[in-house]
Amino acid sequence: MANNLLRQFELHSKEYEDKALEVLRSGWYVLGKEVEAFEQEWADYIGAKYAVGLASGLDALWISFRLLDIKAGDEVIVCSNAYIACVMGITINGATPVFVEPDEYDNIDADKIEAAITDKTKAILAVHLYGQACDMTKIMALANKYNLKVVEDCAQSHGNKWQGQTVGTFGDVGCFSFYPTKGCGAFGDAGCIITNSEELAKKFKVFRNYGSEKHYHNKVVGSNSRLDELQAGLLRVKLSHLDEFNAERCRLADRYMEEIKNPHVRLPKIRTGADSTWHQFVIHTDKRDELQAFLAEREIKTLIHYPIPPHLSEAYAYLGKKVGDYPIAERYANEVLSLPMYNGMTSKEQTAVIDAINEFSV
Ligand SMILES: *Cc1c(COP(=O)(O)O)cnc(C)c1O
Repeated sequence: MANNLLRQFELHSKEYEDKALEVLRSGWYVLGKEVEAFEQEWADYIGAKYAVGLASGLDALWISFRLLDIKAGDEVIVCSNAYIACVMGITINGATPVFVEPDEYDNIDADKIEAAITDKTKAILAVHLYGQACDMTKIMALANKYNLKVVEDCAQSHGNKWQGQTVGTFGDVGCFSFYPTKGCGAFGDAGCIITNSEELAKKFKVFRNYGSEKHYHNKVVGSNSRLDELQAGLLRVKLSHLDEFNAERCRLADRYMEEIKNPHVRLPKIRTGADSTWHQFVIHTDKRDELQAFLAEREIKTLIHYPIPPHLSEAYAYLGKKVGDYPIAERYANEVLSLPMYNGMTSKEQTAVIDAINEFSV
């Protein structure tokens, strides 16, 4: 099945090409008017006061925890089926991730968070996985009760809502990745944060540029995490079509929901109050590897998000976790399968996926 990124590019190729040439010919490539314009447009789109462009989604996460002063000895709560980058965003600063199992909506089970809170807990990282909002009402209530910071990982959730409010605007900071496969994907690496705090937005702007507000006057030890002009310009074009892309993926999801009928397949569930921008269409099946191989034989490529839960990843051997510690995340890692879902997917291609799944038996 086709290369999904090329399809999306081809939907508006002339606009990207024109913008790329415009930036190349401007003679200005880092921290200029495209970044400023994109930051304003992204903040407006999401409904936050400030957006600060950064080099990646991982940078958005770790710099958020750094600037919220979360460090070694502190604990941060995160779902046990998170993407590894979510956990790295916590541990780069030396803090300890505390895993909480997901519920049937594939996001953190907010009813299990309270039991995981200790004297050391400083923050909750709410990961809006696969394009679906977490239960932000329960998460914010706990954060207020225990005086915790809330960082939202919206890398997979560009524009979806919890009870009518766009995700990323509930907590202290909302983190976004614009990696090419994400909803509003760049043509390379890119990311940003949003916040309603002027003071925090300013700190991000200083930190991303070696800690300097004024050239060669460095206030803090920062990083180089600047969003470049080319990506910012291209992201402005992408953003102008984001509602269109999200609506198209919702239509594709509706069709999968209606037409996939196989007793081995459990379709995705959407929590009441949440919506999904369908970053991924993730089914659960107890015959995952067999189904994936069956589809591959018909040249239907599927992906697994994610095959190894973070606590069992080699990178986190030092946490001392073992198989059986987070049984739901471990089960999900063996059950989940992401079906083809991309902008520019044809009806014929989708029919082929649906027919194949419905024919699958063991
Ligand atoms: C993609 C992703 C990230 C990391 O973003 P990068 O831009 O690749 O660094 C973090 N969290 C989640 C949930 C993601 O999907």
